[in-house]
Amino acid sequence: MSFNDIVNQELAKKILISAIKENKVNHSYLFFGPEGSGKKLTALEFIKALNCLEEKENRPCDSCSSCKRISKYLHPDMMSVSPSGSKQVIGIDAIRNVEQFAQLKSFEAKYKVVLIDRPEKLTKEAGNSFLKTLEEPPANVIIILLTTFPDKILPTIVSRCQKIKFLSLSPSEGIKIVKERFNLEGDKAHILYFVCSGKIKWMQLWLESDIWDLRDSIFDFLINIFSKEKLDYNVPLNLAQIIIEKISMFTDRLKKEKQHDTKEFEGVLSSAQIKNIKDLGQSEVEDLKKDMIKIIFSIIKSFYADILAINHDTKFIINKDKEIFLDKKSKSFPSAYLSQAIEELERDDNFLDSGSNLSLTFQVMFINLFCNAQQFPTK
Ligand SMILES: [Zn+2]
Repeated sequence: MSFNDIVNQELAKKILISAIKENKVNHSYLFFGPEGSGKKLTALEFIKALNCLEEKENRPCDSCSSCKRISKYLHPDMMSVSPSGSKQVIGIDAIRNVEQFAQLKSFEAKYKVVLIDRPEKLTKEAGNSFLKTLEEPPANVIIILLTTFPDKILPTIVSRCQKIKFLSLSPSEGIKIVKERFNLEGDKAHILYFVCSGKIKWMQLWLESDIWDLRDSIFDFLINIFSKEKLDYNVPLNLAQIIIEKISMFTDRLKKEKQHDTKEFEGVLSSAQIKNIKDLGQSEVEDLKKDMIKIIFSIIKSFYADILAINHDTKFIINKDKEIFLDKKSKSFPSAYLSQAIEELERDDNFLDSGSNLSLTFQVMFINLFCNAQQFPTK
């Protein structure tokens, strides 16, 4: 990755690169713009460039020890905060950790950086406390806020930050970029782009965890919901189990990698710094897990959206590779069932945000989709 891989955000990149070149880096930035416009990727490149060990013109080099650690979210001088807990907020404890982190002596970096993802989720108490940190930032600490909803952030916080706007991409531009970036053939870029709502991070996660097979299993289950065969509850339960296993396998692997990578710091860093690195790794794994669940939900939603599209206007089909497969049985789906299913999925999607029991959520969701189908006469 480098700044060159971030497309269509020329102004944002220009501002950030010249800030580094001219040594005029601000204490706090607000990156705002639509989902999938590359805010987090740009922030990561910016953090790398700030601390890169190479000559100024070549920053970020992507190969020095600093760049590598930052790419892996494994740098003792970097901290990331995002909403958590059953209410999905950023609470006062998280902000106290930020304050503590800001006071710690830097391990090796020129700039210590705090990333705050979705600052609109700061509780009132946390927001007020955070404002103090923004007003009197310790030297060499840079805070980057990332949001899609700048209007929902405390205006006093917004006014303290340099605002960097990110533009949205058109779908055709987005698909082209995805195709080139991940070297994808056929319809894959189109599918990834729409199921992942243009979010590069989700697409990376999809490809790393390789969930194409999982998508096939989900589609096989959903398409057969209206078959005339006898109701077998094991089918939805098994599918929920396969999904949970896939998610755990992926997150376990990530956790192991993080543990391994943290070892090099033992005996070198203070215990507070080690804790920060572990927290950083842990919160990154948790974020990826949440993203993975959202992707799976999005796959399920795309199935229903496509059944609707096939019956109305095929140019809106997301899963182009499945068009013939879906077309065969799409007529057996009553439209009342489709709207009920989509409504249900929206509800479950919101429910997931509140940190629910994952295994149970998937089981209940599949059983509901399954049982609801039984109420409709098959065509
Ligand atoms: Zn570097």
